Amino acid sequence: MPFKEKVFSGVQPTGNLHLGNYLGAIVKFVQLQERYDCLYCVVDLHAITVWQDPQELPRAIREVTAAFLACGIDPKKHIVFNQSQVAEHAELAWVFNCVARLGWLNRMTQFKEKAGKDRENASVGLYAYPNLMAADILVYRATHVPVGEDQKQHLELSRDIAQKFNNDYAGSIKAHGFGDVFFPLPEPLIQGPATRVMSLRDGKSKMSKSDASDQSRINLTDDADTIAHKIRRARTDPEPLPHEEKALAARPEADNLVGIYAALAGVSKADVLTQYGGAQFSTFKPALSDLLIAKLSPITAEMRRIKDDFGYIDSVLADGSERAQALAAETMKAVKDIVGLVRR
Ligand code: ATP
Ligand code: MG
Repeated sequence: MPFKEKVFSGVQPTGNLHLGNYLGAIVKFVQLQERYDCLYCVVDLHAITVWQDPQELPRAIREVTAAFLACGIDPKKHIVFNQSQVAEHAELAWVFNCVARLGWLNRMTQFKEKAGKDRENASVGLYAYPNLMAADILVYRATHVPVGEDQKQHLELSRDIAQKFNNDYAGSIKAHGFGDVFFPLPEPLIQGPATRVMSLRDGKSKMSKSDASDQSRINLTDDADTIAHKIRRARTDPEPLPHEEKALAARPEADNLVGIYAALAGVSKADVLTQYGGAQFSTFKPALSDLLIAKLSPITAEMRRIKDDFGYIDSVLADGSERAQALAAETMKAVKDIVGLVRR
């Protein structure tokens, strides 16, 4: 086993965190702390690939940090930090800009979705985003990356970049004493019943921070009444829940709500249908909102308690950034030697 197992993942400070971020990513972050050394990053340099109000951005960075802590990430045993405090991310991203091919980036669906119709007017950063994401992971030579399903394609690109770097520089990697490969091929961890939580208004689109309708998502800051209201109004079809999981395939809204319930309860969708198969949504929805409220309200309360304590939050980020930088600097030194850049 040539690489030490290590987890890296990030969340953008681009708006209110929602149930998709929680179930698709942050819950996994918390679980993985038991088995791995983990780095969890507030990826502020990714956020500015689309316009962010400089008055608002610091609040958003601190809020994502508060959410990490409130959900149970331990910043002493692991590393919690914000990306812009570790300049090596951007430095390695530049090297990767020179490794990745235009043809690879042209295939990225997130760019197409986020750039929309006015592609000429999108930032260069939005286009190059996956290269920075590869650098985020590989600057720590991380081996495992918990993400939602929407990030699968970017993870594949990270693997392609790692592989091409290892191939292109194979001779130099060996000559500098790093053996056959310098970067691991990072593995995506995309598991469980809620890897792609869908909008409550439209079972075919992803729950997202950027959706104009607040009714489309459950925010981590929503209170109990708001959660109950949003679930009551969530779009569904008129049929009762099926007994078989297979039957959910043609019913995206039902599938989504069953998946959310399963993830929160820590069971499979099939288990949920064993209990609720044949039930009407008028029975299932109240059970789902009770479960959501039970799981989210302690987190919401803890977030509220710490999110305005800038002294504490900023000290967590400063400490995490310092420890992250010590690791990243080692990788960058090696990368410079491998590439042939003269350094001090
Ligand atoms: P943005 O619209 O600004 O991209 P986002 O909601 O997609 O915001 P990110 O910060 O890009 O949030 O993603 C953070 C993590 O949450 C990633 O691992 C991503 O895969 C995961 N994630 C985002 N949306 C969902 C979703 N609807 N279901 C499951 N996981 C999700
Ligand atoms: Mg996203």
